Amino acid sequence: MLDKVDSWDFDIFMFDRATNGNGLVTLTFHLFLQLGLTRLFRLDPIKLRSFLVMVQADYHQRNPYHNSLHATDVTQAMYCFLRQPKLATTLSSCDMLLALVAAVTHDLDHPGVNQGFLVRTGHHLAALYKNSSVLESHHWRCAVSLLRESGLLDHLPITDRLNLEERLGSLILATDISQQNRYLARFREHLDREDLSMADPSHRHLVLQITMKCADICNPCRVWRLSSQWSSRVTAEFFHQGDVEKKHGMAVSPLCDRLSDSTAHIQAGMHTHTNTQTHKQTNKQTLNSHTLNSHTLNSHTLNSHILFLHKHTSSPPPLPELQCCPPSGFIRHVVEPLFREWCRFSCTSLSHRMLAHLQTNLDRWTDPSQHPETPP
Ligand SMILES: [Zn+2]
Repeated sequence: MLDKVDSWDFDIFMFDRATNGNGLVTLTFHLFLQLGLTRLFRLDPIKLRSFLVMVQADYHQRNPYHNSLHATDVTQAMYCFLRQPKLATTLSSCDMLLALVAAVTHDLDHPGVNQGFLVRTGHHLAALYKNSSVLESHHWRCAVSLLRESGLLDHLPITDRLNLEERLGSLILATDISQQNRYLARFREHLDREDLSMADPSHRHLVLQITMKCADICNPCRVWRLSSQWSSRVTAEFFHQGDVEKKHGMAVSPLCDRLSDSTAHIQAGMHTHTNTQTHKQTNKQTLNSHTLNSHTLNSHTLNSHILFLHKHTSSPPPLPELQCCPPSGFIRHVVEPLFREWCRFSCTSLSHRMLAHLQTNLDRWTDPSQHPETPP
């Protein structure tokens, strides 16, 4: 299967089965060879493999979504993007190395709950990172630990290693969805002014951050056969968090209630359940928990609600039924704006194909007759 690893329709689920759950190690090792990174950086193949084995083991396989398969998928997407002419002809080999390492490590040791949950439960990670980019900061520190433990880069000068670790952090932190508008605004400004210079290292780094973001949330840009499986997995993880919250008498986080939410709602903002009583109760609990009132539910909190969909937000979650439920959810408000700008930057057949898939998938989630809403 690895001869098709540059295909956007690469079936990562089948690949993982074919490798007995060792997809992350097998695929990433192969990509290091393909890009010539092993040779260029004189990497010890044994150390490289042991690093990847540790990375794979540090993901929680019990998480329905944030497990090593997601990291493998993001790494495969990253490889597809790195092969796009705009990147392939301008990135340095160091940029390429960094991009692959960031992709494969970007969700290390993810606990399967979002930042809001960690903050509300007083988790030590929330305290450690002061409630800000808690998960991303942790993923980065885990990545640095494993890099050092494996000794993979020990033969490089210390200044190069430290610089690489810093840049790695900057790429992983860029996957914080709550910060998307900040990155997107900078990227859009450059595109508007047509002054993005790939000869400028800081511009190249911004492009890498955007590339990392695209790879991370590209699920809705895949063909429905693959995309819908990811959607079900995200829903399963959200609902699991909701179950834990219920079990401990906590307010259920938005989109985490299996009795009132659905995959279509999460992806496209579509309500497919009619259990409004439950939904109202949930909202009331959330309201009390965060001492919010309807006056606080402005466009800012609406935006926070949307951002909450994928990972986390430190803002109190607003209430979907109080004019805060967007006409479409994650796909239209988070994924589409990012990929529209990406398409302006890298106007290739792949970019157009991704946007076409995105529209098809959105249409399917919007029309209940086109998607059998099955419990994840
Ligand atoms: Zn991710």
